[in-house]
Amino acid sequence: MKPSEIDLHKELKKYFGFNQFKGLQEGVVKSIITGNNTFVIMPTGGGKSLCYQLPALVLDGTAIVVSPLIALMKNQVDAIRSLSSEYGIAHVLNSSLTKTEVNQVKKDITSGLTKLLYVAPESLTKEEYIDFLKSVPISFVAIDEAHCISEWGHDFRPEYRNLRSIIKQLGDIPVIGLTATATPKVQEDILKNLDMTDANTFKASFNRPNLYYEVRTKTKNIEADIIRFIKQHKGKSGVIYCLSRKKVEEIAQVLQVNGISAVPYHAGLDAKTRAKHQDMFLMEDVDVVVATIAFGMGIDKPDVRFVIHHDIPKSLESYYQETGRAGRDGGEGHCLAYYSYKDIEKLEKFMAGKPVAEQEIGYALLQEVVAYAETSMSRRKFLLHYFGEEFDEVNGEGADMDDNVRNPKKKVEAQNQVVTLLETVRDTNE
Ligand code: ADP
Ligand code: MG
Repeated sequence: MKPSEIDLHKELKKYFGFNQFKGLQEGVVKSIITGNNTFVIMPTGGGKSLCYQLPALVLDGTAIVVSPLIALMKNQVDAIRSLSSEYGIAHVLNSSLTKTEVNQVKKDITSGLTKLLYVAPESLTKEEYIDFLKSVPISFVAIDEAHCISEWGHDFRPEYRNLRSIIKQLGDIPVIGLTATATPKVQEDILKNLDMTDANTFKASFNRPNLYYEVRTKTKNIEADIIRFIKQHKGKSGVIYCLSRKKVEEIAQVLQVNGISAVPYHAGLDAKTRAKHQDMFLMEDVDVVVATIAFGMGIDKPDVRFVIHHDIPKSLESYYQETGRAGRDGGEGHCLAYYSYKDIEKLEKFMAGKPVAEQEIGYALLQEVVAYAETSMSRRKFLLHYFGEEFDEVNGEGADMDDNVRNPKKKVEAQNQVVTLLETVRDTNE
């Protein structure tokens, strides 16, 4: 069947049970099945996986999906297998497979059964795999979490830089890049590195109208302030992010002592404890998780009602990702960040030992965080502007959902802040 003749809604229903495409999905799917390089920028939860899974299922040949994390790949393969009675329809190819398992994967691909082949970027560099993949029909290569290719992204992985040259060895195959990172710099990097500046680009809005953004000055009373906030949201689920493991433990304890059900989560806890605490949060045995950034990837709890940043994060990108875990169900989501310039200085100290190029990027990202925290304009407008998106602060969706809009700072006060900020910036540069 010619791609243009495929009834996409029928296939969507058949494989996924959905009646409608979500957001920009249909356009993306059409772009891919007609063989175009395609670039997809959608916030987390936007439905990026389906954008390449559906084309892979309806096209001839096998689609290669590059993904950075084995755990993510396993989840996806399990999900795909549950859609079809064919076991071999999706496979993961990685270094943990035995020789026999690898042979089975190859057999399923050769026979045309396998529609999706998930690989880690480092597996794809293996000569043996490349030679094999050259010999079988590949429908396209999808690169999930494509921001890993950019040093300006929050998760740079050097192996991603080799992808383009490997794909070229496989032949003239369409490339699909997908990411939830919306900053123009990262997008540019992705398109350049994947050599696909000609790609059809689909960018969804990053506005989250149900999230309320608030920044409070961090004072000595922060703990009492957090406790008061949580008690005002009694029984609701929330996450508190802290910079250090030590702070996570400290705050979790303070909350517990004050009668709030809270558990800590950070990479210093053993895997069993981490899993237990995560489950307790998901099952609502506790209200609050106090965590480092180790918490959140792939966690899909729809009714998180608040995300508190005890410490401001190192980029607005991270801030958006972390606050984005609130209000997934479309209901209330209060995003409260505590800010003091001392925290910025701490973050700068962390960077001091890093290579110069990395430091420069780090400082630039931090300056944006400072500007966001100290701004007196619509926070939503500021955030969306950072992501290259225009926002109408009067009529846009969620326009009144932040502290600056609800309680505008007096002009003079705001101006003084700018002066202070400029002085601080000057002082730190000297
Ligand atoms: P992303 O990778 O963009 O973060 P996912 O691909 O993980 O998002 O999808 C997020 C959720 O949206 C999943 O639970 C998925 O089943 C759901 N979803 C995707 N497409 C549709 C659709 N057309 N209709 C309803 N739900 C969808
Ligand atoms: Mg995804």
